[in-house]
Amino acid sequence: MVHARKRFGQHFLADQGVIHQIVNAMGLKSSDRLIEIGPGQGALTEHLAGQTDSFVAIEIDRDLVPFLKARFPAVEFINEDVLAVDLASLLHTDGSRLVGNLPYNISSPLLLKIATLMRDHRGLVRDGHFMLQREMAERMAAVPGTKAWGRLSIMMQLSCDVEHLFDVAPESFKPPPKVWSSVVRILPKDAPLLTDASQVAALDRVLRLAFAGRRKRLANALKTLDLDWGTTGVDPNVRADNVTLQEFVTLALIEHNEQ
Ligand code: SAM
Repeated sequence: MVHARKRFGQHFLADQGVIHQIVNAMGLKSSDRLIEIGPGQGALTEHLAGQTDSFVAIEIDRDLVPFLKARFPAVEFINEDVLAVDLASLLHTDGSRLVGNLPYNISSPLLLKIATLMRDHRGLVRDGHFMLQREMAERMAAVPGTKAWGRLSIMMQLSCDVEHLFDVAPESFKPPPKVWSSVVRILPKDAPLLTDASQVAALDRVLRLAFAGRRKRLANALKTLDLDWGTTGVDPNVRADNVTLQEFVTLALIEHNEQ
């Protein structure tokens, strides 16, 4: 066994029960195009490789890749940082599926990258099944009025539906992480609420200000945007925690049009 590298967030799945739960939740077909992120030593890869004819995996650690290639000759391995990989170029026209026990140190930018992929290539990406830190899964699936509701919830839910499947204890991994994990399913929304990248950028500006001042009245947190609140239909006196996805989209479109 190769020594686990902390800087790559390596916590290898050791619990066969959890591996089977993930594989069963996916229900792979041989015609599916599968993209695995961070195969590590192949704990999941081993159970997925026989089920589909079209399988590509992206692993950053160059010490693991020769070992993976020898063990799974039918799988294509890309030895790169997934954040630098053009995921769209790996998609197949008949619907691709993503999976991974994700490195926790990059999960936030990686999930936003996957949400963008799902928004821009809706017909091509069928779903994603990911192991994440439980706290991250809660933030992605959060609803307004809760502490977990924030920028990640909104940026994900703009183009994806997030379903929490089950929790996984630290002892299921080697070495065990400090926190509990969760497996989630992410599905592209039929109709994303915003499709234009510059509108999404406007939403991001609104969200960063709104949640940086989450204890303030919304009008106060968004003061620098100089919005005409009378035309927004959004209550300027609430806090960001209580603003819905649709209301944030409305504010983003106004901010976008005023640029
Ligand atoms: N799938 C394996 C398992 O379940 O045992 C390994 C999971 S481990 C939590 C995360 C894996 O992602 C590691 O193999 C790590 O080297 C890899 N990784 C970390 N950062 C990465 C990146 N930026 N791009 C691609 N792979 C990465």
